Amino acid sequence: MSVLKLAVPTPLHTLFDYLPPAGSAEEALQPGVRVQVPFGRRKLTAYLVSHSATSDLEPAALKAADTLLDPQPLISPGIVALCNWASEYYQHPPGEVFQAAFPRLLRDGKAHRCNTVAGWELTTRGKGLPEGALARSPKQAQALAMLQREDQVSGAQLRRAGLGSAILKALETKGLAQRCEIQPGIASPVAREPLRPGPEQRAVLSAIAAAGDGFNCHLLEGVTGSGKTEIYLQCIAECLASGRQALVLIPEIGLTPQTVARFSQRFNAEITTLHSGLGDAERYRAWEAARSGSAHIVIGTRSAVFTSLARPGLIVVDEEHDQSFKQQDGFRYSARDVAVKRAQIENCPIILGSATPSLESLHNALQGRYIHHRMQQRAGNSQMPALEAVDIRKAPLQAGLSPTLLEAMQHCLESGQQVLLFLNRRGYAPTLQCHDCGWIAECDHCDARLTLHRRQRQLRCHHCGVSQPLRQRCPSCHSEQLLATGLGTEQTEEWLRRHFSRWPMYRVDSDSMRGRESMQALVEQIHGGDPCILLGTQMLTKGHHFPAVALVGIIDMDSMLFSTDFRGEERAAQLLTQVAGRAGRDEVPGRVLLQTHHPDNPTITAMLTQDYHHQAMAMLARRREATMPPLGYLLIARSDCTDAAAGEQFLNRLREMAQPHLPAGVNVIGPLPAPMQRRAGRFRSQLLVHTCDRRLSQLAARRLVQEAQKLRAGGNLSWSLDVDPQDV
Ligand code: ADP
Ligand code: ZN
Ligand code: ZN
Repeated sequence: MSVLKLAVPTPLHTLFDYLPPAGSAEEALQPGVRVQVPFGRRKLTAYLVSHSATSDLEPAALKAADTLLDPQPLISPGIVALCNWASEYYQHPPGEVFQAAFPRLLRDGKAHRCNTVAGWELTTRGKGLPEGALARSPKQAQALAMLQREDQVSGAQLRRAGLGSAILKALETKGLAQRCEIQPGIASPVAREPLRPGPEQRAVLSAIAAAGDGFNCHLLEGVTGSGKTEIYLQCIAECLASGRQALVLIPEIGLTPQTVARFSQRFNAEITTLHSGLGDAERYRAWEAARSGSAHIVIGTRSAVFTSLARPGLIVVDEEHDQSFKQQDGFRYSARDVAVKRAQIENCPIILGSATPSLESLHNALQGRYIHHRMQQRAGNSQMPALEAVDIRKAPLQAGLSPTLLEAMQHCLESGQQVLLFLNRRGYAPTLQCHDCGWIAECDHCDARLTLHRRQRQLRCHHCGVSQPLRQRCPSCHSEQLLATGLGTEQTEEWLRRHFSRWPMYRVDSDSMRGRESMQALVEQIHGGDPCILLGTQMLTKGHHFPAVALVGIIDMDSMLFSTDFRGEERAAQLLTQVAGRAGRDEVPGRVLLQTHHPDNPTITAMLTQDYHHQAMAMLARRREATMPPLGYLLIARSDCTDAAAGEQFLNRLREMAQPHLPAGVNVIGPLPAPMQRRAGRFRSQLLVHTCDRRLSQLAARRLVQEAQKLRAGGNLSWSLDVDPQDV
């Protein structure tokens, strides 16, 4: 008897046993194939993980799968292994993990189809025509000649040759040509001339080459503008030259069309992009291009890490420190960590690049697990900017801007350069308060205040998205004295438009930039180099190059300083270094002004006097003392429930049940309310599990999941496990 072990997309942490579908050949049942199975009253698409000679189920209880959906697996053995690993490491249901490796259409059980393009070919009659036929109709003769030369020609190719569909239809009417579907072949990619590497780049390139094309993890720590992207491009050129494909993970494609543009300028190759902005059909095509091997370079966001490649040769994770690589709901994984595992499984090199590497990666590099490369000079002639603190205690602020900053802006704009202002808060003001009684506008569904958006005349919650019309009176005392307090980008923008009206001003945040077109248009405008003011949130710091920006103003440094999260200081240092890195490129020396009420704060002093690398080393030492990641391991078991007490009770029970099975060295803390306990009407509580050993952490993760499954999570309660959580 052969029993199929299947990953079925359900929330259960187990594989399911089924008998093979009737009439299926043993050799067709390869790990990774999709199988349709009856599950309760539903039909589900499941994934074959392995075979077994026996089952724990009674033979009578074993059901047979309905149909085998693929004659061969659509995902590579490497991806099957990666999914198995991820399901175990993140203790996530295998069915949901395997789903991450397929586009929606295939998850839904649709038949696999190769990517094809519509084209034309000759009929038997057409093939019989002699060369030089149809002389009276030169266009038709030209089309005929093209089809005779190349068998099948795509509609696009014909149009490029000036042969529209009318001409082909004429041939069709004469019974000479017919429509066809063409399968793309694998073209040879061509790399254009690379830049001549500088001394640091040359050293890195030869070290990467010397390490070979087997598995190695390279941490490329290079200051902003040091030419990391050029390193990726040259390594990719090598990879393509050896006939293999490259996978490039970046934080957000929608916002960085010019990253993709740099790749397509360098390579005459098929480049496919995978990101959340794609519709199901587009995503399928992109996935299929990667899988079949027709795409040479696959550029994608987080979820692309599970995309099967026919000939994997290199993985690049750009801005590896970026938090968007961590999936924060459902299947909670770190795409960076999964990428490293994948490179190991596929036995290919991986490059993690950043100006501000995560402490995790830095630690791995220092331990010798990763090969560490550093670039401390900017490429070309551009200089690193100078950082200065601006003490704003007692300073008369206008829309948050001090006289020192305003003067510097004036000077910069008048000398024909661009200014970038950073304020990490959208909207007009973060608080609306009644001056007479102290009432504050709060979200009904979250433990959070509502943000005032004045232009839309709305109050909005930035956590659950609800909005309500701006009120004129205090609901508590009916006073009209409602004050907007605190500062958001909309307010600063309004003020600047009035007082700096000579120069164009662009606000960049998720309210003003909807979709990639608006960002692309803006980036082009800015690259024109005319003086202007850019005002934005974190969105501005993501991978953009603004060569003419000579002044960066950090409007509210203090908001970055006081975080309760143990990663707070790391994030502040990364964010500041990244924002500052936008300035002073291309020979314009840059200046960065940090407005603060705490000029003597140790974090600020460290930022002014040390580069990111030194700050990071000091932070690592503190993490070591506190045995916090990466020098300790964390898990969080979360409950999420409309009833706060029920959620906490669940975690208490879980703790009681798991504790006797946990070895010494596993510290369970809680249950405690999550940082923002109520969000969108649901209460979140958490158990924090701390260990000093990865194996202990894995053991605890398995035990927690095992026990949690025994507990009946009543009604609307849901629970989840977060391995290596980002926010604690
Ligand atoms: P990073 O990715 O480290 O921020 P980039 O690769 O984007 O750096 O390079 C920054 C700028 O320097 C870009 O404008 C790039 O074209 C230029 N650059 C990179 N390498 C070289 C080189 N070897 N010679 C000349 N210019 C270079
Ligand atoms: Zn009031
Ligand atoms: Zn809310």
